[in-house]
Amino acid sequence: MGRTLSILGSTGSIGRQTLEVAEAGGHKVAALTFGHNVKLAEEQARRFRPRLVATPDEGLAADLKVRLEDTDIRVLGGEEGLVEAASIPEADTAVAAIVGVAGLKPTLAAIDAGKRLALANKETLVCAGELVTARAKARGVDIVPVDSEHSAIFQCLQGAKHKEIRRLIVTASGGPFYGMDRKALSLVTKTDALKHPTWQMGQKITIDSATLMNKGLEVIEAMRLFGVPAERIDVAVHREGVVHSLVEFADGAVLAQLGSPDMRLPIQYALTWPDRTEGIAKPFNLFSCPPLTFRRPDIETFRCLALALRCAKTGGTSTAVLNGANEAAVGLFLEEKIGFLDIPRLVEGALERVKTVHDPSLDDIFEADRAARQAVLELTR
Ligand code: NAD
Ligand code: MG
Repeated sequence: MGRTLSILGSTGSIGRQTLEVAEAGGHKVAALTFGHNVKLAEEQARRFRPRLVATPDEGLAADLKVRLEDTDIRVLGGEEGLVEAASIPEADTAVAAIVGVAGLKPTLAAIDAGKRLALANKETLVCAGELVTARAKARGVDIVPVDSEHSAIFQCLQGAKHKEIRRLIVTASGGPFYGMDRKALSLVTKTDALKHPTWQMGQKITIDSATLMNKGLEVIEAMRLFGVPAERIDVAVHREGVVHSLVEFADGAVLAQLGSPDMRLPIQYALTWPDRTEGIAKPFNLFSCPPLTFRRPDIETFRCLALALRCAKTGGTSTAVLNGANEAAVGLFLEEKIGFLDIPRLVEGALERVKTVHDPSLDDIFEADRAARQAVLELTR
């Protein structure tokens, strides 16, 4: 059955692949949102004919309005525009593919409007996981993960009961700097960090993959999505990128999902679940697959992962501070204002400065995010 989508972040890596999947699978598009690339947003709007396109930037909205003058597509600017796109009545599914905590409000709006949530935006669950999952439960909304590891776990869990889960094993590529020591890491550049061995992704997640913060965020994401404490989630470095993650069950059985590294498969599954349909993801050939290896991550060298695992256990607003400080530090690294090892240093500094609030409200979470970014700025002055 074809679905009707609202794609939040349609110009990004996940957003663009979602449109490929939608086109191939006969899904309709009711709304799109974008952050910066107005030219691509116009092309997408002309091709997919949504009813609404929104962007937080009022100037870009005015620009797009002129570009789409000859169509009947509505264009909205500002945060309210994103919320309207997320809750547009024609859509039954929202694809949350905005990067960062900027995706939190539109994601909550999609839940409140009762949409199925195809969730790529992990930062939302890291900052406000308990709030988001509780609200989805209360509203009877399904959250289907798009992140490849979480999709793998979700697929392995089909037909299983929660009490049968003994352990989740999240696989990690190890990133471009696998095996390096801190001295070598102190010299790496932005260009080195943007060369991911397995996946083509947006810049922020590519840097997170190089620091291993991405894996830390994913442990927190898994904890929130599947209701499994951090103590029962392992990270395994798996360089080959074939096993997308695993679940160990009470009887000792271990299930894994394997495949080519192609995000279009988890995106498609999030749309078609609980069904499977023919798709456009690269096929997988077991006989040309390299020997599979699994190793423990080096959390002494890759401090971001250690910090995230600590916050996973602390809970409360600590994960929002971790995320906000990391977003700010990665932004500075991408502007080439700080070095690679400054990222964990600044995140750790922010965690020391900002006090954790337990059972946080949404306001507490936004305040923790603000304070974390402020701390990063002060620490770089
Ligand atoms: P990206 O940078 O390629 O795209 C991000 C999208 O969000 C773009 O459309 C951009 O315009 C929009 N955006 C950015 N800042 C915004 C803001 N302040 N307000 C509104 N919109 C804004 O990122 P991506 O790689 O597509 O990743 C998107 C999300 O999916 C991230 O949370 C990432 O962790 C997650 N994810 C991505 C991949 C992947 O393969 N790319 C895999 C797993 C999870
Ligand atoms: Mg992932």
